[in-house]
Amino acid sequence: MEKRRIYMDYAATTPMKKEVLDAMLPYYNDLFGNASSVHSFGRGVKGALDTARTEVAKLINAHPSEIYFTGGGTEADNWAIKGVAFASKDKGNHIITTKIEHHAVLHTCEYLEKYHGFEVTYLNVDEDGMISLEDLKNSITDKTILISIMFANNEIGTIQPIKEIGKIAHEKGIVFHTDGVQAIGNVEVDVKELGIDLMAMSSHKIYGPKGVGALYIRKGVKLHPFVHGGAQEKKRRAGTENVAGIVGFGKAAELARVNLDNYKNKLISLREKLINGIMERIPYTRINGHRTERLPGNANFSFEFIEGEALLLSLDMVGIAGSSGSACTSGSLDPSHVLMAIGLSHEIAHGSLRLSLGDSNTEEDVDYVLEHLPKIVERLRFMSPLYEKVAKGG
Ligand code: PMP
Repeated sequence: MEKRRIYMDYAATTPMKKEVLDAMLPYYNDLFGNASSVHSFGRGVKGALDTARTEVAKLINAHPSEIYFTGGGTEADNWAIKGVAFASKDKGNHIITTKIEHHAVLHTCEYLEKYHGFEVTYLNVDEDGMISLEDLKNSITDKTILISIMFANNEIGTIQPIKEIGKIAHEKGIVFHTDGVQAIGNVEVDVKELGIDLMAMSSHKIYGPKGVGALYIRKGVKLHPFVHGGAQEKKRRAGTENVAGIVGFGKAAELARVNLDNYKNKLISLREKLINGIMERIPYTRINGHRTERLPGNANFSFEFIEGEALLLSLDMVGIAGSSGSACTSGSLDPSHVLMAIGLSHEIAHGSLRLSLGDSNTEEDVDYVLEHLPKIVERLRFMSPLYEKVAKGG
């Protein structure tokens, strides 16, 4: 087989769709007005922001007035957590989250602990990456003001029981935030049906531009503003909007909503072929993440006796782009906190690979990976004295 270039790192980022770029371009020059201006240049741009807001709202069944644009998923997570923490200080100082959150949540919680006197409970997860609802209930105190639990994990793809978590939070009058960055555009997300109060979103994971996202804030939820200044985003997130970015996000949200079923089904079918093919061909392999409650495009494996960085580079040499377990700490040799939280040892966590599928991937891409990956793993394992011993039955 000839060498191909295959992108299987869609959970890290996605390419912008042509329709998205086409929608954005006029807002860089022809339609350059400032949405806050009263004249027609400004009004046209305001209309474009309203359209984008409506499209993002439709994707998650929110009202457009509940969508606040941000500079990405990280900012939305920061805002949700700090915003509720600061607004509810006199009610309590306890936050519940999990050990497998994205760093945008974990580091925000750590900051609140270190500098603002908050107490944070980091829930454990089981070997599939699921939280326990019992643990959640037991960790609630009369000081708990916020539960922040991610919708779907970016590394292992596990989807949490969001509706049940929402119910538990509301029975106790606690605000429920979820990091929905990996979920939107990949699975149905209905914030009303699921009882979500706050949800962070990002555009560049759904074929939109980078550096733009949104926070869904259910009507009536109290939180402090994030950026102080002008009146943009109802004075809660001030600053002239990234108009072209927001227009692109709106277009990406519209396409994601219209294509959701097809996209999801296509990815599930490719993922299953990939996972089953790898499990058949490569011994001493573990699939990480829940087998069914998982993101359609996520496959995450740990191969015993090998080093993840070497694996990624070897895959890159045959044109396959994947990522290691430590997806968001690239350059770090520490195994990911997510893989450690599901109970993997340092050694096994090191030999992990995330392949995340998306738009461009085909059956032929999966066949190509199934041809090359087993050979690469085998070659790398031959460098491991331990593998030699195990393979020889020693
Ligand atoms: N949360 C999750 C679960 C993510 O996967 C990411 C992106 N890696 C983020 C938050 C941050 O989003 P952004 O890149 O838009 O800041």
